Amino acid sequence: MALFESIPSTTGHRQYVVKSPVTLERIGVFECASTEEVEATVLRARKAQREWATRSFKERAEFLWRLVDQIVARQDEIVALVIKETGKPRNEAVAMEVMAPCMQISHYAKHASRYLRSTKRRASGLMRFSKKVSLTYQPLGVVGLITPWNGPVALAANPLAQALMAGNAVVHKPSEVTPLSAVLLKELTDAAGFPPDLYSVIQGDGQTGAALLEAGIDKISFTGSVATGRRVGEVCGRNLIPCTLELGGKDAMIVCPDADLDRAADGAVRGSFFNSGHYCCGTERVYVPESIYESFVEKVVAETRKLKQTDSGEGDVGAIFWDKQMDIIESHMADAKARGATVLVGGERNRGLSGYFFPPTVVVDVDHEMQLMRDETFGPVIAIQKVKDVEEAIGLANDSDYGLSGNIWTQDLEKGAELAKRMETGSVSINDISVTYGIPEAPFGGVKASGVGQVNGEVGIRGYCHLHPIITDTTQKALGGYPYTDESADRMKKAVKMLFGNRFIRKFVV
Ligand code: NAD
Repeated sequence: MALFESIPSTTGHRQYVVKSPVTLERIGVFECASTEEVEATVLRARKAQREWATRSFKERAEFLWRLVDQIVARQDEIVALVIKETGKPRNEAVAMEVMAPCMQISHYAKHASRYLRSTKRRASGLMRFSKKVSLTYQPLGVVGLITPWNGPVALAANPLAQALMAGNAVVHKPSEVTPLSAVLLKELTDAAGFPPDLYSVIQGDGQTGAALLEAGIDKISFTGSVATGRRVGEVCGRNLIPCTLELGGKDAMIVCPDADLDRAADGAVRGSFFNSGHYCCGTERVYVPESIYESFVEKVVAETRKLKQTDSGEGDVGAIFWDKQMDIIESHMADAKARGATVLVGGERNRGLSGYFFPPTVVVDVDHEMQLMRDETFGPVIAIQKVKDVEEAIGLANDSDYGLSGNIWTQDLEKGAELAKRMETGSVSINDISVTYGIPEAPFGGVKASGVGQVNGEVGIRGYCHLHPIITDTTQKALGGYPYTDESADRMKKAVKMLFGNRFIRKFVV
């Protein structure tokens, strides 16, 4: 049974019914916005943005502080809805969909004015005698926000806060798998008194997302799969609009022989099972040198066996949020088993529970011929490969089309940092699971197929702006150049020789 199903429409719009992955009960119906509605929403957003851009950072921040008030006051409602829509455990719903948005929104409410402060500079080189430069961060206009289903509140609230603090309006197309969380987020912004049309939600599927790309927006903030990201990037290229593409990953974990093995085993379990493995920087591949392999695997198995999976929201590992993801996880497992992998824990869909549940799973005897080690599984599966040494581990970690994040476990922090530099990923954690997205001081974004551009913090919020230089001439009268003569060309040639013919003078001039 599909959790998200097309139903016959009475209105001429595509309609879908959404079901809970836990109870399989219908929890909502939504209608896709038409192309005309998407365009009209962008037009209204553009009007709202013009007024919003005139407000000071302090005024904009006041709206965001009020949004945080709303989230805190209505956190039980948010948690209950997210559990209904995704089946994630209560602890993860609070941590990821309440605590993280409060932190993200508060961060930009407090720090945006510092990140986006206007500056004045003296020009360098020959221009230094006649030009003053002032730089201001101008909003881009209307930002299109397209989000996935694995963090329905957090992955919308974070870019929303940044885009708004930078002076933009936002039109948001949430995932069709988790449309209700976006409705609640919109309700919260309304309750916080946001100006009408500053933040709009348009419900819909991929076709609706495609319509938003063509609706005259000024930037796309996209989070989702590599396949869709490629399509979005192509359209943005054609329409000449900037985009950030935060895409999938296949993160590797490398355990060095000197690692604290209890800590590393705990990291493997948290990194792979958090959010049912639906974590873009979840640990999907673990490489362990043979000298510590047996002991590490034993600890991971023992930790995994302690975990509880329930359909009450109280366990450790929740539901699979979407039936299509269950198909991918099951097909990767079938392929791995057929190619000789050994399942030590779990490995088959948990049919003891009525919803979509896959148990926390540990697999060994894996290699890079298997889909489980090459393609994004996005499920609660730890795949552990035995290697000769750390050198082989680095080679295998980099043998991937993806490059989102990764983690290294060692007690020698200097060695860890050296190894981290060799990982072909957007970021690396040492002795921790990937936490980059939660640290605004660390720009987040993938390399290779895992994305384009970086988000969060100073770099991220500046990506919602155009850095606008204003150059003022400080001389009394314009220098003029006409008419061109042979003498004026000769004078310039002599100047080139004088200024750049000598290495010392050259350095002084620029
Ligand atoms: P998806 O690509 O299927 O969908 C993402 C969004 O794009 C949805 O809202 C969808 O409706 C929309 N969409 C689909 N086709 C479109 C089109 N042609 N034009 C415009 N929009 C379109 O991804 P998903 O299954 O919802 O999410 C899971 C993926 O997201 C995983 O690969 C995961 O790793 C990735 N992800 C990445 C990050 C990150 O920050 N790097 C974070 C979370 C999730």
